[in-house]
Amino acid sequence: MNKVILSLELVGHLVRENRYRVDPKTKFLSRCIDGRYPNETNLPALAFPGADLGELALIMATGNSYGFDVDLGKALKSLVGLIGGVSNFRLHTDGHADPKLLAGGCGHWKQINLDPKAYSLSEKEIDSIKKNLNIDQPIVLEGEHIEGAVLMVKGDWGVLPQAHLETDQGKKMVEVFIYHQSLVDERHRVLSKALIKNKAVKFYNGEDEDWLYEALSDMSENHLMETAKRLASDLPIYSVIFNEDGNFKLEKL
Ligand SMILES: [Zn+2]
Repeated sequence: MNKVILSLELVGHLVRENRYRVDPKTKFLSRCIDGRYPNETNLPALAFPGADLGELALIMATGNSYGFDVDLGKALKSLVGLIGGVSNFRLHTDGHADPKLLAGGCGHWKQINLDPKAYSLSEKEIDSIKKNLNIDQPIVLEGEHIEGAVLMVKGDWGVLPQAHLETDQGKKMVEVFIYHQSLVDERHRVLSKALIKNKAVKFYNGEDEDWLYEALSDMSENHLMETAKRLASDLPIYSVIFNEDGNFKLEKL
């Protein structure tokens, strides 16, 4: 299967076909930025590198980079509380990875393992994340990576990652990486509050909830960019900003 690099026009077709309104009841459930999720009506709209596993890595990395302590167990508890239980914790692998490796088929998690320093993590911390997680049934994504663009989404609408589109090479299956900026931000607001309330973070200079939110946001961008430069450096990036009614403004960044 060869990948099709998506033009602005093709992305417009994909978004029109694949948009769906975010369900407020499940808006904090996550998926990875990966384009290999089959289109399903209950696919979480909140797309984030590494899904909840990536979120946990992000919290640890933010502590390292911004100089505060993180209690991993309490951070996990805070995240699980926010998604409504451990059964909602999302991570994924694929059919190519060693099944013994936790999420070995998740491109983002794999890159973190290959180059922890670039993600402000240590090998020891990665190991303790693995040990703290008891997930025996990660979602398994199948097929080759054929993502042909990166979409940065804002608004109360989600986008499914796959479509059959008429291209200049005929009718083709296409996929996109998706990052849902506004749902990520919204979740980080609530997460910042929960981390402080549950004493999952310990500050040294009187930092507060807003400061933590900004730190998590900056670090999210770092983590996304580290993975994008390793896995999507040849792809165009588009911004998709939804109105309330589902119409959207599409721009190449
Ligand atoms: Zn992934």
